Amino acid sequence: MNSVIYFDNNATTCLAPEALEAMRPYLADLYGNPSSIHSFGSQVAKKIQEAREQVAALLGASDPVEIVFTSCGTEGDNAAIRGLLESQPDKRHIVTTQVEHPAVLGLCQHLEKKGYRVTWLGVDEEGTLDLDELRDSLTDDTALVSIMHANNETGVIFPVEQIGEIVKSRGIPFHVDAVQVAGKISLNVKNGPIDLLTISAHKFHGPKGIGALYIRKGITFRPLLVGGHQERNRRGGTENVAGIVGMGKAAELALKHMGEDAERVRGLRDLLERSLLDSCPGSRVNGHRKKRIANTLNVSFEFLEGEAILVLLDQYGICASTGSACTAGSVEPSHVLRAMKVPANWIQGAVRFSLSRYNNRDEVRLVSGKMPLIVQRLRDLSTLGRLGDRQEAQPGPYRPAERVGARR
Ligand code: PLP
Repeated sequence: MNSVIYFDNNATTCLAPEALEAMRPYLADLYGNPSSIHSFGSQVAKKIQEAREQVAALLGASDPVEIVFTSCGTEGDNAAIRGLLESQPDKRHIVTTQVEHPAVLGLCQHLEKKGYRVTWLGVDEEGTLDLDELRDSLTDDTALVSIMHANNETGVIFPVEQIGEIVKSRGIPFHVDAVQVAGKISLNVKNGPIDLLTISAHKFHGPKGIGALYIRKGITFRPLLVGGHQERNRRGGTENVAGIVGMGKAAELALKHMGEDAERVRGLRDLLERSLLDSCPGSRVNGHRKKRIANTLNVSFEFLEGEAILVLLDQYGICASTGSACTAGSVEPSHVLRAMKVPANWIQGAVRFSLSRYNNRDEVRLVSGKMPLIVQRLRDLSTLGRLGDRQEAQPGPYRPAERVGARR
């Protein structure tokens, strides 16, 4: 599968070759435990410190001590929310949004069942938040506000600085799920209102199985994993050394190339967007066109099913997604597009293309060339897909269920 065209970078990214090289020694010869007293182990501890500094620089943190390594974004989100709740046992109210990734959404639903009150902030048709609704939701009982920086399905960016000012004016801790923005847009936690912030290495060309949680100095926090004294008692467990080293290298690369990468990727994304909208009748973009990360395009094809499009794209070796990777395989409409009130005739036909610095113009041209053929083929198969028949149309005639069910 070397010749795949990989436009699914919000699900995961390829490992940067430089990160792989940096990791290699720590998967082989340098296997010491960083907590050991001997120098074979302590040389590893020094490398972890270097990676902590690289990650702190990516986030614009004032002190590397504020970085805690985790196993993934999901752990970071869980550690942040549960850690804040445990440190304020008398508070029972959480504020979040309806469009969070399942890492936050699922946890907050679980906490709701356990007796916490959750305010689920809505979004408008472009996927943006109403800050007055946020302001009105805060009470003396609010333990925390957890809001994503950019949405994984649409790429829509929330104004976390403005949100944070509102939250902090009430003295409430503020957590941000920045998994989809780390390495894509510049972060400066030092001078902003964010108390805790989650990232995950595999979204910015680092390895899988490693993430980080920024915890501002002075924030009271209880660890999710209680055990050894690693990570200054904030996350027990022997460190994933190679993962941490790879994450550090990926963070360094992302920071170094961020500006130029974002411009180039935006150019590719915009080219893809224009050509799909021009060449595929009955197509529209989901999400705010400007307040959006540069790599993401969520586009709907009226009366079609996104899963059917993915299956045909797959036959050309093109990887895309219908939304969150974690919900792939399900034909339930996306909770994000539902919250945006995307109409029934458009909601099932959403496809997410997400690019990275390793994509190029030739790939965009190839995908742009195949998509009109795929859309036409599916429209020919579907009576409702024929755009002339719109009046009688009801969504969902084409069911690629067996193929899709077999996918992850
Ligand atoms: N938060 C967001 C916004 C994401 O997009 C993802 C992954 O898709 C996660 C959290 C979970 O990250 P991980 O896959 O590292 O657990």
